[in-house]
Amino acid sequence: MGQARSFLTLRGSFFGNQRIALSVGLCGIGPALAGNVGTGGAFALSREGDQDVDVPMLAPEPIPLPPGGVVWGHWRILGGTGSEACGKRFRREKWGRRVVDRAFYRIMITYEDALERVLKPLLAVPVVSMSLTEALGCCLAEDVSALVDLPGFDTASMDGYAVRAGEVSRSGVVLPCRLELAAGRVADRSLESGECARILTGAPMPAGSDAVVMQEDTEREVDGRIRFLDGVKPWENVRFRGEDFRMGTRVLAVGQRLGPPQLALAAAAGRAELRVHRKVRVVVASSGDELRSPGTPLAPGQIYDSNSVLLTTLFRSAGAEVIRVPTLPDQLEATMAGLESALSMGDLVITAGGASVGDRDFLRPAWERLGGRLDFFKVAIKPGKPVFFGTLRGGHLIGLPGNPVSAFVTAVLMALPALRRLQGSAEVGLPTTVGTLSAPLSNPGLRRHFMRVILEESGQVRSAGVQASHIILSLARSNGLVDVPPATEWVAGTPVRVLRWPEF
Ligand code: AMP
Ligand code: MG
Repeated sequence: MGQARSFLTLRGSFFGNQRIALSVGLCGIGPALAGNVGTGGAFALSREGDQDVDVPMLAPEPIPLPPGGVVWGHWRILGGTGSEACGKRFRREKWGRRVVDRAFYRIMITYEDALERVLKPLLAVPVVSMSLTEALGCCLAEDVSALVDLPGFDTASMDGYAVRAGEVSRSGVVLPCRLELAAGRVADRSLESGECARILTGAPMPAGSDAVVMQEDTEREVDGRIRFLDGVKPWENVRFRGEDFRMGTRVLAVGQRLGPPQLALAAAAGRAELRVHRKVRVVVASSGDELRSPGTPLAPGQIYDSNSVLLTTLFRSAGAEVIRVPTLPDQLEATMAGLESALSMGDLVITAGGASVGDRDFLRPAWERLGGRLDFFKVAIKPGKPVFFGTLRGGHLIGLPGNPVSAFVTAVLMALPALRRLQGSAEVGLPTTVGTLSAPLSNPGLRRHFMRVILEESGQVRSAGVQASHIILSLARSNGLVDVPPATEWVAGTPVRVLRWPEF
């Protein structure tokens, strides 16, 4: 069985525990999509009653998506009895009871497909020169070669005494000290035979010396001479010129994200400015008439807007310049106007809410009315199924779902990689850590569940609590996600890969 790349959703009332194989055809849509689209994998119903069943589709791969991603059509269930039925309504007489009373398909794509479609049209933003401290969080648009050796000269790694190692090979040697060397100063003469030099960490080794005896292994005699309590080997406590890197070495590469260590390295290598991709401008908009800013009184039915804070801080901490625009009301024209202006302000527009199929979800209709292309709608993941991506006049929109957990999960799974690509980053994924479950974790559903977890420092992993997409408390407790495949029960002790939040 090939890996399923698309999913169909069947909505219906299902009865009994059954295994059903599907062959799916489409009707009532354009000629490009008419005909058979493939065969659904066999799926088992584990629950009775009204539900959506997501059926993995096997061929062809991938199923072409119509605009909006929603298709209606007929389908049939092939059973062992030879009876079959087509259409939106049917009864399966052989089994003597109704199997499905309503069905439609809605094509969902896998997370990997969705991510590929998001990343494909995105190009890194223009390149500029920036000072090192300005460039924090930006990605390099050039390879960086060292302008100097580091260390620039052989140097003491300890406070102590520079000696000729051959003269201090055993304990008890006493030598006069007539030379003092501190960091930043070069000796005006060589170390002569039969003497030692006071030397501090970072000072250049005087010519003639080849080891440093640490201060703790010496004593000063009353006449000022130095007694060595221990022998020393050649080159002990000496850092060599170019030991870290040599002039001309490539120390940083195109696409690397610049954090404090990388910027410090650039400074040590002699660079004052770097060629980087400028900051990406991300425009964040929440959608929903019920939303109010925290700090203002709530009328009945209203809630505080947490997604604006979530997304603004997420993208800002990921190195973007975030522009927050007023909440989009639940109204088509106003949403169109809001999207139009958001598009003109930034490189990437991220909305939260109004993305689903409800009567008051206007994001997709508004986008399409503006002429925007919809690259996908609905991804076979939980939480965050209703997420969409579109392109219009060179601008890009990721429409995230409104539930704060869904918004966050889809933001880190899809919008953050998009930001990384625009930033010119070589790496776009989340950091991962392998841990071990300290308690069972299960996903009885038919969609992959990105479950929020707590990854302990010890590597133990457990659920962060209630997994429903509106429970923000468990989100705030978690520090990562575990991708749990459909119909999976993992026992304690199972090794798991944790997708960690980016560093904030
Ligand atoms: P929607 O996707 O617009 O249907 O919203 C789904 C759920 O998320 C609803 O309960 C909304 O009230 C809630 N929601 C939407 N946007 C936000 C937001 N910005 N902050 C907090 N909750 C939100
Ligand atoms: Mg809404």
